[in-house]
Amino acid sequence: MSSECPLCQGKRRFWQNICKDCKTLFKILQANMGTMGLSQLMDELIATGIPKDKIYRFLNTPQEGQGSLLDQVTAGLTNNLAEGMGVKEKQMTAEDVRRIRENPHKIVSTKPLDN
Ligand SMILES: [Zn+2]
Repeated sequence: MSSECPLCQGKRRFWQNICKDCKTLFKILQANMGTMGLSQLMDELIATGIPKDKIYRFLNTPQEGQGSLLDQVTAGLTNNLAEGMGVKEKQMTAEDVRRIRENPHKIVSTKPLDN
């Protein structure tokens, strides 16, 4: 049994699913997903004092079949935006976001995620 955190590859206690830091980050993410912009959300995550490289890994490690958390957040924001504009098309999934991110040349206008 591995004691590696699946989100940040850091150490976790063997009885925990994810490490303490990721738990903290995840709570913030869940509470604010879809209501906060990405840069605002990043500020909240950084405000925890958790090292940025850990936050980066937390957000960018791909989760099985779902894309990374960052993809999921981006998909959530995109869907909210589409809803706000009255677009009732198929919801964008984290997987779609991952595809776009990995093939940015295939779409006409893509802005880099804010940093
Ligand atoms: Zn972790």
